[in-house]
Amino acid sequence: YFTLGVCFAGIHEEMLKDVVRTRSYQNVITQNNFLFKDKIVLDVGAGTGILSLFCAKAGAKHVYAIECSQMADMAKEIVKTNGFSEVITVIKGKVEEIDLPVPKVDVIISEWMGYFLLFENMLDTVLFARDKWLADDGVVLPDKASLHLTAIEDAEYKEDKIEFWNNVYGFDMSCIKKQAMMEPLVDTVDQNQIVTNCQLLKTMDISKMSSGDASFTVPFKLVAERNDFIHALVAYFNVSFTKCHKLMGFSTGPRSKSTHWKQTVLYLEDVVTICEGETLSGSMTVANNKKNPRDIDITLKYAINGNRCKVSRTQHYKMR
Ligand code: SAH
Repeated sequence: YFTLGVCFAGIHEEMLKDVVRTRSYQNVITQNNFLFKDKIVLDVGAGTGILSLFCAKAGAKHVYAIECSQMADMAKEIVKTNGFSEVITVIKGKVEEIDLPVPKVDVIISEWMGYFLLFENMLDTVLFARDKWLADDGVVLPDKASLHLTAIEDAEYKEDKIEFWNNVYGFDMSCIKKQAMMEPLVDTVDQNQIVTNCQLLKTMDISKMSSGDASFTVPFKLVAERNDFIHALVAYFNVSFTKCHKLMGFSTGPRSKSTHWKQTVLYLEDVVTICEGETLSGSMTVANNKKNPRDIDITLKYAINGNRCKVSRTQHYKMR
């Protein structure tokens, strides 16, 4: 029970202490009172209720905070302790299953982003809430999310995480290496490792998109900014709140202050020797796993026809 208790608070502690994340939401809410004043707000996946509290403070008429985990009980108590019982109603249950006491809401706020943006697939829950309860002129916060790609030199870490399995105390465990290669690694990338430009892969408009838009195939062209080796591609996301008075948002990229989402590293089977100005091109396919929709299947095709290196390959990854 003790360990469970720690884990239970742990994920929320990590999220709350992620100041890039939590301050961004706080700034969006407190600096844009006009979006909340006298409005009905729905907080999708309220956790500790932090976003609901920000909204209540910003003058919302009423906030419905939906949370399916045990944390809902804490959120109820937190709301009471902080004197917001009149404004915030915590509803314990799944967004997909609960009854909301009002037919429509003016604002949907949520922090639904997972690793690689889409992992754990909470986006579908937000889209469900939007389609069921958002008023015609209502707003979704955040309303834009984008996925980006770059390439890195990562010899040392690839050696440690992947090649390690070739010789474990003298034994060949390379069968595990194949599995390890297929699992995208969530980790912080040093911006000095970046070899190419960063490319926007996909933009999603949360206020308009459908659930199917989160599955896609997009091309990329990464151009080397120096002579180097490429061991992995790195994906990260940005989110923005375009309905603010001034555009606001944050990036989880390797050139920005790090967040608990870190970056997502996809190791390549080949070590790509690339010269400045040359292009590594290809495509990325992202789709929810058919058997387990919370898992994500990623297919990467890449090719280079360079001075020192010619390769073309397709690799499959699975986030679970
Ligand atoms: N809004 C909080 C918590 C964000 S984490 C904050 O910003 O700190 C997302 C939360 O959504 C988790 O607490 C999770 O339990 C909850 N959640 C995920 N899917 C849900 C669903 N379908 N219905 C209700 N809550 C959900």
